Amino acid sequence: MPPDCPSPHPAAAIVREVGLRDGLQSLAMVLPTATKLEWIDAAYAAGQREIEVGSFVPARLLPQLADTGELVAHAKRLPGLSVSVLVPNLKGAERALASGADLMLVPLSASRAHSVANLRKTPQEAVAMVREMRAARDAAGSSMLIEGGVGTAFGCTLQGAVPPGEVLRLVADLLEAGADRVSLADTVGYADPAAVRRLFGQARRIAGDRLCCAHFHDTRGLGLANALAALDSGVARFDACLAGIGGCPHAPGASGNVSTEDLVFMLESMGIGTGVDMARLLALREAAVRWLPDQPLHGALWRAGLPRTYPAPSGAA
Ligand code: ZN
Repeated sequence: MPPDCPSPHPAAAIVREVGLRDGLQSLAMVLPTATKLEWIDAAYAAGQREIEVGSFVPARLLPQLADTGELVAHAKRLPGLSVSVLVPNLKGAERALASGADLMLVPLSASRAHSVANLRKTPQEAVAMVREMRAARDAAGSSMLIEGGVGTAFGCTLQGAVPPGEVLRLVADLLEAGADRVSLADTVGYADPAAVRRLFGQARRIAGDRLCCAHFHDTRGLGLANALAALDSGVARFDACLAGIGGCPHAPGASGNVSTEDLVFMLESMGIGTGVDMARLLALREAAVRWLPDQPLHGALWRAGLPRTYPAPSGAA
């Protein structure tokens, strides 16, 4: 790129590790709490400063995440770590507030069919729930952030097409209802880079910097391309899972979330700082092989290893 044409990308980006929640919730096995604590500590030591440690859902529904309170308590002892949890309902939000986590992510669905099937609420009923969560947060005098995560933003396995106008209306309604910030997610691998650039650009015109995060799955091989498109639109925070875990349990072999290692590698290679030590991150990925035997792991970097030219010389972007 000629020197008179500055890079359109930010100097730094955040990769939020969501493997402990998004990844583990779709695996049949239950990872022991001690191993999860080891994971959190190793991710922190590798430089990750935002980790979603679990979800406050009933343990009978997701026994894999039953130890979320304990994980939050441990993670909160690591200086400078932003600890997030997923909450599906008001009861979960109350538990999150009591836990002392820094952020609660409320998953919503722009697809009406998916919203009703998964949350047993229409999108507008889910927005009303966020309004109640905000009231509970304020009544508790808590500074915990509320993030509305808009899923099926690029299409839905139940409904098919999801009109962009409905996604954008949900973004606006969430902010009006008291969400501090919003994110867009494609958990089914329906997005493509052109659609991502278009929708993130439109959402950013509504939400500005409160559109804070992009969440992509690599179901059809476009995870990193979509992340790059979101980066182009101005987003600088991405969810990712160690070893790309989190595939759909109904589609054996299907790739899951974008892999943390591959995403960090892409960003760092482009000269975008993530604060992550790649050698430590790859060591953590090796540990995941031991922790998750017989589970499908994904990602490309671990197969080939780092190129001799890594890290890219500064200014190479
Ligand atoms: Zn995901």
